[in-house]
Amino acid sequence: MNIILLGPPGAGKGTQAGLLTQSRGLVQLSTGDMLREAQASGSAMGKIVADVMAKGQLVTDEIVIGLIREKLEQGGTGFIFDGFPRTLAQADALEALLAEMGQGLDAVIELRVNDEVLVGRIVGRAEEARAVGQPVRADDNAESLKTRLMAYYKQTSPLIGYYHAKGLLKGVDGLNEIDTVATDIAALLGAAG
Ligand code: AMP
Repeated sequence: MNIILLGPPGAGKGTQAGLLTQSRGLVQLSTGDMLREAQASGSAMGKIVADVMAKGQLVTDEIVIGLIREKLEQGGTGFIFDGFPRTLAQADALEALLAEMGQGLDAVIELRVNDEVLVGRIVGRAEEARAVGQPVRADDNAESLKTRLMAYYKQTSPLIGYYHAKGLLKGVDGLNEIDTVATDIAALLGAAG
């Protein structure tokens, strides 16, 4: 089964994707992680995206679609898309890439949260990291967060209506405890896959 986790920054997509890799053996494809790896490796692409990411803006569709294409071309099935797609163009590209492999999407899980909680979570994540001397994400600051939330509402949230129309959208309350959210997702996905 191939599923998408949709939701604003700080909604818990990465955490839930990680749990789903364990419980269902799905392969997590996080474009945010891929882009951070590109930056850490000092590649040309990493350098191009660094500034855009630090500001909290979206990198180009071309770059992220290229990253996902590379992963999907290695074959396999059972993917969990975390932080991708974030635009309608990316959604179209994903559908085409999966169709080329004779596959499709089984579900889109929307993690529903509210903005105040998100800001608290992200600022908290940065403070915790700082307290123990760990590196803090360059985009975990109030300014970038505002841009990231705006990018979500403007560019990504239209995907909610799009996937709803396709009959794929399922929502869970992302404000619950991690385990409860995981149980709710498991119930939505059922025994399939
Ligand atoms: P994330 O770890 O998913 O919060 O992503 C961190 C940052 O990477 C985002 O704020 C964007 O700058 C960039 N990014 C990650 N995924 C995408 C995507 N699908 N489309 C555009 N930009 C992305």
